[in-house]
Amino acid sequence: MKYKNTKNIPYYIYGKGAINQLKEVLKDGYRVYFIDHFFKNKDLINKLPLQNEDVIIYVDTTEEPTTEKIDEYKEYLVKINKSNPSTIIGIGGGATLDSAKAVANLLTNPGKAEDYQGWDLVKNPAIYKVGVPTISGTGAEASRTCVMTNVKTGLKLGMNSDYTIYDQLILDPDLTKTVPKEQYFYTGMDTYIHSFESLNGSYRHAVGDAFAREAINLCKEIFSSKDMMSDENREKLMTASYLGGCAIANSFVGVVHPFSAALSVVFKIHHCEANCITMRGMEKFYPREYKEFFEMAKKQNIEIPKLSKYIDKLDDEIVEKLYNSTIIHEKPLSNALRDNFKEILTKEKVKEIFEKMM
Ligand code: NAD
Ligand code: ZN
Repeated sequence: MKYKNTKNIPYYIYGKGAINQLKEVLKDGYRVYFIDHFFKNKDLINKLPLQNEDVIIYVDTTEEPTTEKIDEYKEYLVKINKSNPSTIIGIGGGATLDSAKAVANLLTNPGKAEDYQGWDLVKNPAIYKVGVPTISGTGAEASRTCVMTNVKTGLKLGMNSDYTIYDQLILDPDLTKTVPKEQYFYTGMDTYIHSFESLNGSYRHAVGDAFAREAINLCKEIFSSKDMMSDENREKLMTASYLGGCAIANSFVGVVHPFSAALSVVFKIHHCEANCITMRGMEKFYPREYKEFFEMAKKQNIEIPKLSKYIDKLDDEIVEKLYNSTIIHEKPLSNALRDNFKEILTKEKVKEIFEKMM
């Protein structure tokens, strides 16, 4: 038996107003900021210790990161002669945090983003990087991947590497105040979902389990209370997101994420909303969590979207695409359903599950 060598985030500053300490953790020299486009012309920008020579790239998060977009960022920095910054700073949600991670890897490694989609393909350490999440739930701030879609091949896969992990985080719950309510719920639920998936899997790890259990406890407290976005609950959710991200470093997701990924690939639905839609079809696999999930949504007055928001009818061609994009996720599916998952998830069965989401 060979045990896994797990890396977690080496440093983090946690607390309301922690963004004001960003300066302390930046290295000397010019810096490159990746910031969610929501913050353009917002107050947050005035709080940053900007220098004249720094570069700000606003990340348009209308669409999730693509390998092409990551290549473009790199080419742009090379073109303007800013490809060797002292620090890269990512400020935003999963999409922005992941873009910053991917570019930090790509600036010290030759080639294109797609060359590093997979496990442990990044050879050289990345540029020193600092992550500042502004919405909680994906755990992207803590994880060792940066999810990107390769539009040409349809592959949605990150650069899974210890080099992808942030060197430093600033966890400031004040930054999540402005998140729209629906988005707050969808993204927050990502940590609840991947934590229960890992706890229900066959691949277990005692430390991962402990992280996941606490992430779930916090989510239940937050989303069963009256106001999920109170000061206290935003603090708790930032904690749950971080713990969930650490949990997943030691385990795998389960049935929800493969179905959700298929919705993202086939219909371009954003990850966290796709997870929530997928929950409509998950009663058989996770009966307790299914019930809890919909109770929490009801308590917070959140309408979980249906797949019919995106498509009128599931015809054979679409089912074929969805089936292929689901079943390709062998690691999580065998974690959840053992090695004979293909016998359980027949095409008929997969269709039935997607029908439940309509
Ligand atoms: P996001 O980055 O996609 O942003 C969602 C929306 O929230 C955007 O419209 C953005 O502008 C807005 N937003 C963010 N912060 C805000 C704030 N403070 N106020 C107002 N609006 C704000 O959000 P997400 O759900 O955190 O991330 C999803 C992405 O994360 C996907 O691309 C997914 O693939 C990726 N992901 C990565 C990992 C990982 O481990 N790296 C894990 C899960 C998901
Ligand atoms: Zn997720």
